[in-house]
Amino acid sequence: METAMSVTFLGTSSGGGPSLSRNCSSLVADVLGDGSLWMVDCAEGTLRQFSRQPYSPDRSQPRVSQISKMFITHMHADHVMGIIPLLRNVLYPPPAGEVAEQVLVDPSPKIEIFGPAGIRTFVRSILKMTLTKTRDNYVVHELLTEQDQITPCDPPEVMHVNEVAGRDIVCSEDGFWRNISRGKGRLSDVAVDAGPILHRGKFMRSIHLIHPCHGFVPDPCLGFVFRECFHPYRKVVVLGDTNDPSAIIPLCVNPSPSLLVHEATEAHISQDIDPKSKRSFETVMGKAQGRGHSIPQMAGTFAKTIGAQKLVLNHIGGRFPAPGPNDRNPVRANVIAEIERQASEAWGMGSARAAWDFMRVAIPVPTETVGDTQASTSQQASCESEFPTPSHTRTIPSKPSSTRRYYHTHTQSPGSSSHHNNSSSNNRNNFNANGQQHRYREGGGRRADRSERQDEYGSRKGRK
Ligand SMILES: [Zn+2]
Ligand SMILES: [Zn+2]
Repeated sequence: METAMSVTFLGTSSGGGPSLSRNCSSLVADVLGDGSLWMVDCAEGTLRQFSRQPYSPDRSQPRVSQISKMFITHMHADHVMGIIPLLRNVLYPPPAGEVAEQVLVDPSPKIEIFGPAGIRTFVRSILKMTLTKTRDNYVVHELLTEQDQITPCDPPEVMHVNEVAGRDIVCSEDGFWRNISRGKGRLSDVAVDAGPILHRGKFMRSIHLIHPCHGFVPDPCLGFVFRECFHPYRKVVVLGDTNDPSAIIPLCVNPSPSLLVHEATEAHISQDIDPKSKRSFETVMGKAQGRGHSIPQMAGTFAKTIGAQKLVLNHIGGRFPAPGPNDRNPVRANVIAEIERQASEAWGMGSARAAWDFMRVAIPVPTETVGDTQASTSQQASCESEFPTPSHTRTIPSKPSSTRRYYHTHTQSPGSSSHHNNSSSNNRNNFNANGQQHRYREGGGRRADRSERQDEYGSRKGRK
């Protein structure tokens, strides 16, 4: 019996995208093993990404028809604009010549959407404005704070004709949404929790809100935690955009996550890695913090704080395209390797990966009980081997970037003391051992994908 959970990235670009090599944010998680998929975020173009996946001989690629739940981290356009096309596909059009109300056989929703305040109005309004009718139904459950307004589902006429009344889930006193959804997994029930993370917002001096930053009104942004309720207690944490996810820490520990997906929109790249790189570390940090985003060291620091066993970076900035196998200029691959190195160094527990579109990460059953030191080591080793092979050969930077100084001055995550330890040389060794001779591995889809990447490379060369 296949017992590994898996996460497949459908889009890995920040909001500056989509670009030739990356679509914007979306991923699907196979956490139950019953043929259903749970999606986190759904950027414009996500539906098309399903048809662009590299061919897999075992036909194990995710299919759009498998999606049963969607979890939306926040309302920014690069995370929601693909929802409507995807719903139209999953819910099917009504048979020709009939109206939705007359053909509906099963009124129960085929797909459930969970997201912050506003997501219900967004879906409802655009479906109505585009005169969309579907064969099957959907439901939107909103995760609300005490300050949020409820979007009514009563009277029924306010809803879309294919909408089922959803739940208004107000966070508990500690600010979390626990057990918002549940499913029966291969080895255990899987529950979903959500928690707030800091992303972006504005200062409002006249408004007093209960928030660590007095007067700061954050745009709602969530992280989702998918956890097995019983042995083997695997846990997958997927965060939305953030420059400070510390508020969600209580959901991310005991046990620590098998996988953390954390954004790394910005990164400081020194000129010895990319001669065209001009931005100072201070400029990069200022931009990241100002826009509510992270650099790789912040992702690594958070991974260390919660003891994550795997770390994948996503929401990669537009200036860091995914390298292709035929890139003759090694700069792209070196830049990505440097981003991973910076995150790994701060994490200190292994080799972080910067996600690329269609990358799949397996989360196998740990070989021994979590908590035992020996077991943790063997589990980590097992997890490492489950990372997919990157699509490019890497040249390891000869010397570390100056960005390490970040940890001496800016780190604020609780429990994240003493980051600047001797793990840096260990991690470079890991890269040397594991990173230099990676070979492209994309099954039968290799040819199609290569030609696509060649086109991309060619057009970029042509522009120069
Ligand atoms: Zn974003
Ligand atoms: Zn955002």
